[in-house]
Parts: sequence; C-alpha cells; structure tokens
Amino acid sequence: NAPARDRLRIAIQKNGRLAEPARSLLTACGLSWRQSRDKLFCYGESLPVDLLLVRDDDIPGLIADGVCDFGIVGRNELDEQGAARRRIGLPDAYQALRGLNFGQCRLMLAVPDEWEWTGVEQLAGKRIATSYPAILADWLAARGVDAQVVELSGSVEIAPRLGTADLICDLVSSGATLAANQLKPVETLLESEAVLAGPVKTPDDARAGLMAMLLRRLDGVVKVQDSKLLMFRAALDRVSELTRLLPDADPLVQLPDDGGHLRLQTMCHGALTWQRLEDLERAGAQGLMVLSVERSLA
Ligand code: ATP
Ligand code: MG
Repeated sequence: NAPARDRLRIAIQKNGRLAEPARSLLTACGLSWRQSRDKLFCYGESLPVDLLLVRDDDIPGLIADGVCDFGIVGRNELDEQGAARRRIGLPDAYQALRGLNFGQCRLMLAVPDEWEWTGVEQLAGKRIATSYPAILADWLAARGVDAQVVELSGSVEIAPRLGTADLICDLVSSGATLAANQLKPVETLLESEAVLAGPVKTPDDARAGLMAMLLRRLDGVVKVQDSKLLMFRAALDRVSELTRLLPDADPLVQLPDDGGHLRLQTMCHGALTWQRLEDLERAGAQGLMVLSVERSLA
C-alpha cells in the first residue's frame, strides 16, 4: 500500500555504537553517498540507495511504515518493538534478515552482588527495572513468574540503589557497568548483535532487485570477514598432519607444484595466530602466507 519507489532507503543509527560500523559495512558493499547538509538524509551516488540517519529506536517503525526498506539495528531493539507490537495485537511488520557480526551484547537479568541467586522463582513479587519491558514480560510469562516490570528509558543500572527496583534487566557487553554498580548478571534473555532488518513482504517494484543485490553483497562481505586465505608449500607426507591442524579450514587445494613440494591453499575460517602458524611450520608447512579476504560472490 506504500507508494512505489525506485530508490532504496536504508535507516542506520545517526550517532552511537552502531553508527560507524553500519556505515562502513554499507561502504564495503559498494555504496557511497553525497552528504546532505542537515546530515539526516544522504543521497546515494554509486547506486540508488539512500541513507536515513536516525535514532536506533526509530528504525523498526520506519520499516513497519514503509518509509525505509532496510535498517541496521540491534536485535534487542527489533525484538523489543516486535514483542510490543504483538502484545497489542499488531501483525509482524519487519524481520531480521541477516546477523551482521558487530554490536554483540546480551540482554541479561542482573541482581545486587549480595543476592544469592537460586533461580527464576526468586523473582516472584520483585520489581525489575528495564528498557525492554515487552521482552522481559514475555520471558517472565513463559516461566510463569509474577514480577513487576518497571520501565525506565535510561540509567537502569542505578535503579536498585535508588530503591525504585530490586533488580534490573539490561544490555551487558563487558559487564563493567554492572560491576561498577554492585550488580551481577544471572540470566540471559537474549543474545544480540546488529542485524539487517527488512519488511516481511518485499516490495514489488524496482527496489526488489536492489534489495536482492545488496543482500548478496552483504553476504559476500560479512561471511568472509573472519576468513583468511592461507597458502604454503609442503611435502606430500606432511599433508595429513597439516590437515589435522586446520579443522576450521576448507579442504586443501593443490596448486601447480613447485619442484618437489606441493603448493597448497585453503580458506581458513578461524583465527590464524602466530602460534598456529608456528605450529603449522613445525608440522612441515613452508613459506606460509596469510591473505585477508575482502569480498566474495558465492
Ligand atoms: P540512540 O541515540 O540511537 O537511541 P542508544 O543510546 O539507544 O542510541 P547505543 O548505546 O548507541 O544506543 O547502542 C546501540 C546498540 O548497540 C544497542 O541497542 C545494542 O544493540 C548495541 N550494544 C552493544 N553493546 C552494548 C552495550 N554494552 N550497551 C548498550 N548497547 C550495546
Ligand atoms: Mg536508542
């Protein structure tokens, strides 16, 4: 029912944790923009793909309303607004299409240090401060726990000290903020990362092709992010031992050989630390070379 458009619009966070990585990911997909003066809207130059720079809270709604076609937002935010919609009987209006491998964090319950945590039954009758009331309410309901959800838009971690709640449900990455507030994490409600969100139904105009192309490019960047191309030489009788040392790599590929020694290459999907290279060398690999992979078309 939204009007047909021939340019794609992607919403990303204007400022904050996801702003820079979202932009560089899209740049790696071959997009570029002419920066507009007010910097809320960036006009796409290399492709008809424009950017909208907004608060992350607004991204799910922009997709739901058809104002934007894609958005890059934390799974936590997307799930919260999705759960809130469902609680008031609205249909699903967006979905997470791809995990993007950044912005990792967890939505966790955290209790004052002095509590001895014995399990969710302990939550009965307690007040839990959170900015994720819908996810928390669903989680409590699924476990049959009757606790009071206290919605706060920020500074959730000081609520127990202020006496406005007994415990909290908040995003945690390193845990330093919790520790600084004499809280400890006890349960994980959600493992989150930045996701590419899109509509449940793909528009049937020029945008469909652009969306498919962008998804394919995104996969070609994200899927190879942790991969390295590993090249080396080895004698034939060393190959099985070297293969054993590379359980996280694709099968070894043999290149045209080089006076006696095999020349081998493989795509490795785990970390290739110096330690591992030295282990491979001791097992008979020579002239080891690690090449980073920028993009790929599957
Ligand atoms: P905005 O002004 O856009 O509303 P914000 O304050 O809501 O910004 P940020 O703090 O920039 O948001 O966090 C954006 C997202 O980063 C979070 O929704 C979450 O997905 C992710 N994130 C990763 N680690 C953390 C963390 N330790 N605390 C909070 N968010 C984190
Ligand atoms: Mg926000």
